[in-house]
Order: sequence, then C-alpha cells, then structure tokens
Amino acid sequence: MERFNGYFGQFGGSYVPESLKEVLLDLENIFYKYREDEEYLKELGYYFKQYVGRESPLYYANRLTKHVGGAKIYLKREDLNHTGAHKINNALGQVLLAKRSNKKKIIAETGAGQHGVATATVCALFGMDCTIYMGAVDVERQEHNVFRMKILGADVIPVHDGNATLKEAVDKALEDFVLNSKDTFYLMGSAVGPHPYPVMVREFQSIIGKETKKQILEQEGRLPDYLIACVGGGSNAIGLFYPFVDNKTVKMVGVEPAGKGINSGFHAASISGGEVDIIHGFKSYALDESKVNIYSIAAGLDYPGVGPEHSYYKDIGRIKYDTITDKEAMEAFHKLSKLEGIIPALESSHAVSYGIELASTLSKDKIVIINLSGRGDKDMNQIMGMNNKRI
Ligand SMILES: *Cc1c(COP(=O)(O)O)cnc(C)c1O
Repeated sequence: MERFNGYFGQFGGSYVPESLKEVLLDLENIFYKYREDEEYLKELGYYFKQYVGRESPLYYANRLTKHVGGAKIYLKREDLNHTGAHKINNALGQVLLAKRSNKKKIIAETGAGQHGVATATVCALFGMDCTIYMGAVDVERQEHNVFRMKILGADVIPVHDGNATLKEAVDKALEDFVLNSKDTFYLMGSAVGPHPYPVMVREFQSIIGKETKKQILEQEGRLPDYLIACVGGGSNAIGLFYPFVDNKTVKMVGVEPAGKGINSGFHAASISGGEVDIIHGFKSYALDESKVNIYSIAAGLDYPGVGPEHSYYKDIGRIKYDTITDKEAMEAFHKLSKLEGIIPALESSHAVSYGIELASTLSKDKIVIINLSGRGDKDMNQIMGMNNKRI
C-alpha cells in the first residue's frame, strides 16, 4: 500500500512539537500495518456487525419526500448505531489499533459528548483506562452524555479555559498526549488533527459511504444525484463522500453551522466563513476567534477548524459547502420527527434542512441522500430548556 504523505493539496500536514513527531510516526506505522491485515479487519468487521449493528439502513423517507414534493429523499441511518451516532465506527477502529500498540490508556476530547460516549464505550468493551476532556460549557449542556460516560467507567475532566467548549478540550487532550505519549493513545474524534488522524478517521468512517453505494444500487439501480452531510470536524461527511469522490455525476454538499446567522458573529462555519490557518497541528480553513464567537445550537458542530481534506475539496471545487442556521435546523428537526417518526440529532438536522430545501428545487426523478449522523435523544434536555412553542 502506497503511503500517503499527509497533505491534501496545501492542507493537512503535521505541525506538532518535536516530542509528538515520533509518536505520530509510530501511529502511522501501526495504521498502515493493520489497515490491510486480515485478522484486524475481521475483528473490526465482527464488532461493526455484532456490536454496532451494521450495516445501517438506507431508508427511503416516503412521507418527507411527498411533503417536499421534489427529489426522492433517502436517509442513511447512522442514528441507529449502538451509542446513537457515527462516532462509534471510528472509536472501534482506533481502539483496536491501541490494543495492538499495547497502550492501555485512552484519552479523547469531546464536544457534544457523542465521541466521549463512543470512546468510553469501546474502552469498557476492551478494558481500557479512559480519560475524556470536555469543555465546561459542554459538560453542562450535555449533562446526559457526561452521566453516560461516567457510568461506562470514564474519567470526565471539565476544561474551563477560553470559551470552555470543544477547542479548549482538544488543547488539553493534546497537552496530556505530549506529556504521556509513551503509554497513552489519543483517540481522535473527527477527521482533523495532524497526520495520520484525518486519513485514519476517514478510513474508519468510509464504511458509511461504502454501504450507501451498495444500498442505493440495490434500491434504485443507480448512483444518487446528491449526497448531503453536516460538517463539524467533517468525519461523518468524509465517511459518506469519500467512496463517491471519483463518481463525477454525484454532487456533494457539506453543511456547516451558521448559528445565529453567518454575519451575526455567532457561528462555526469554518470553510464558509474562515481563512487558511494552522490549528491543532494541521492546516485548514479555520475561524479567527477574535472575530467570531464559535457557536452552534449543535454542540458537536462548534469547532473552529475543519478536516483538511474538506478544505482541499472546497478549493478544487469537488464538494460544495453551504450553511444552515440554528433556526432552520430546528425547523427540520421538528419536520423529520413529525413526518417520519425519526428524531434527529441537532447536528444532523442541519443536513436534513439543507437536503429538504434542495430536494424541493429538484424534479421527482432525482435522488438525494442525507446522512443522519445521529439521533436526537442526547438533545432532549436542551430542547426542553428552549421552551419551544411548536411542541
Ligand atoms: C460529532 C457529531 C457530528 C459532527 O462531527 P463530524 O466529525 O463533522 O461528523 C455530527 N453529528 C453528530 C450526531 C455528532 O455526534
């Protein structure tokens, strides 16, 4: 297998202290050693099927499609995975690498708490020691997930620096990793960070796109016209998109969170509203926190950077990136719940909103696939707190 140098055009790379370089090289070696190892892939496939419940369905949303009155809308049901989102795909892939590198301590950062839950879950499954860093603000608004992590046996450490959200949690996790890299495995939650994380996370999440391709060919006998996914760090999106990148007839849209409006100063649309910068050890589009308050109604989307591969596809024009506001996402959240009996995560609701809007402009013979990255159970406290009048 040819080695990838870690750069997607000008993006990606590895901008880390000397002390981390060697550890990342070890990780890269382990990843390349096992990504084609029969025994490793067999074990991963076993847990995907018997533990996560893969493959996840590709569901034709009949009532939603009729309501919208345009293109056929399909939902890739990552919300049905064990633990409620796509994050478990990646957590399993990485923990099985940690096992093979004889590292017993796992650390991770989490925003919405979904990656923390996925990590705490696989640590329980394989008897690993688990520490989760989480912004203090997120600890509060994702109380339910914090409780789940603790039940699963993880140590949850609230981070109070700065805005006390995902970015600060990543900083603290990286700090821990630099100090303790000998016996610690940093289980990265999205397709971000220094090489080899973006390519590694993409590999584990690509199961989403591989299944989708097979399923749509079975159900429709052809490839879709559009793929839609929300973009925080970009892992569920790259997982769906990557297996279709060479299929030029398939258009793809990554949906970023416009928060209170792209010009409001409160959003987290790193590609649509950011500039090229180096953040957390890699080069990508990123937001300048002196100009923008990193914010989204969806805790899993409020990260100031984005995966380097997305930055690259944006620049070469292969993938389009657009934004959806909190308000639009909330409308889609209610619409999908009422029309299909599926309560989506607030993150996924951004993709649903964009997909509905897009489908309404297309003819009935077109096919739009929306990645339903997670379920809304984790968001119930937050939504109850909003005192939403439409309920
Ligand atoms: C974490 C999360 C996201 C955002 O992360 P990506 O890496 O961009 O996929 C989206 N949806 C859900 C349900 C999540 O938990």
